[in-house]
Amino acid sequence: MTSLAQTVGFQSGERNIFFHILTACNLSCRHCYINTGQHGTTTLSRETMEEWLELFADKDKKSNVIFLGGEPTMHPDLSHGIAKAKALGMAVTVDSNGYLFNDLLNKTTPQLLDYLSFSLDGPNAQVNDSIRGEGVFDMCTTNMRKAIAMNYSVSVIYTVSSRNIEHLHGMIPLLAEIGVKRFFIQVIGLRGNSAIETVGEQGWQVSPEQWLDIVPRVAKQAAEAGIHVTFPKVFLEKDEVFECAGLVTENYFIFPNGRVYRCPLCEDHPIHALEIKDNQLTSTDGLNEDSFFQLNIAEGCVMNKLLQPDTISYDVQGKPDHRISCCLLKQEIIPV
Ligand code: SF4
Ligand code: SF4
Repeated sequence: MTSLAQTVGFQSGERNIFFHILTACNLSCRHCYINTGQHGTTTLSRETMEEWLELFADKDKKSNVIFLGGEPTMHPDLSHGIAKAKALGMAVTVDSNGYLFNDLLNKTTPQLLDYLSFSLDGPNAQVNDSIRGEGVFDMCTTNMRKAIAMNYSVSVIYTVSSRNIEHLHGMIPLLAEIGVKRFFIQVIGLRGNSAIETVGEQGWQVSPEQWLDIVPRVAKQAAEAGIHVTFPKVFLEKDEVFECAGLVTENYFIFPNGRVYRCPLCEDHPIHALEIKDNQLTSTDGLNEDSFFQLNIAEGCVMNKLLQPDTISYDVQGKPDHRISCCLLKQEIIPV
C-alpha cells in the first residue's frame, strides 16, 4: 500500500467544540494537562451539559464536538450528551483513557458516536504505564478490542514526548493487530503536570531534530500499513504561510467552570476570550488571548514563543531556525 501526505488547512465554516464536561479522572498521568486550579472541579449536570451544547449549535456550520474530561466516561450522563449533540447535527467524538466507565459501549451506539478515541502513549505496558499508570495498557487495549467488535469507529491518540518518541514505531504492528484504522499523533505541550514536573535532563519535550527525524517517517510507515495518520505540523517550511487558528477558525475549548478558550496553549492562564455565565456565552473584558492572536512575530505562533520558548532555536544572525506553526495545524497521511 502507498500513501498520500497533505497539510489539513483550516476549514472556514466549520466549528470544533472541545467540551470538558468534568475534570475528575481515575488516572494520574504524569503529563496530564488538566489544571484544576484554572478549570475547577465541577462536574456539569446533565441539564447544563445539554444547554451548553445548544449554545454552540449552528445548523449552518459543520460542527464537531469532542467530549473530554478528566475522563468523560466517568460522567453518568455522557450517553445523553452524545445523543443531544447528534440531535443538534454535530459529529460526535469521545476521547477516553480507555476505562469506559458507566457501560458506555452499551449505553450509546456507533450510529450516535462517530469516533471513540483511546489515549495510549506506548506500544506496550512498560512504556505506556510508566507515563499513564500501572494496568492502563491492558485495560485500554482490551476495551479497544471490545469497541471494535461492537462496530465502533476506534481511533488512538499518542502524545509524543521524550519518554516515548523512540517507541512510536512500535504502535504500527499493535494498531494493525487490534484493527485500529485511525491514528492521531500529538506533541506534548507544557501545560498542567508537564509544566510542573520535569523528567530527566531533556525534560518532556522532544527536539526539532528528533521530531522531524521520527514522526513523519513513522506516520508514512503507518499509512503504508493501511492506517490513516494525523499529526501536528509543528515546523513550517520556508514557503508555508503562518496562520493563527484563533483568527481564522472556530475552535472552542470549554471547561466546566465556564471558561471558553480559543487556543489550547492558553489554558493554564486566566486569559480566556469567552465565558459562559448564566447559560449565556459572553466575551471577557481586558487583556485576553484574542489580543495575542494579532501579534505577528518571526517565530510564528506567539503563544508558543511566550510559553514554550525552549522549542525555538536561532541561527547566528538571531533568526529562528524554524517558524512554529499553529498547534492546531495538522498534516495527514492517508493510505491509498
Ligand atoms: S491525561 Fe487524561 S487520563 Fe490522564 S490523568 Fe489527565 S485527564 Fe486523566
Ligand atoms: S497555538 Fe498559536 S497560532 Fe494557534 S491559536 Fe494558539 S496562539 Fe494562535
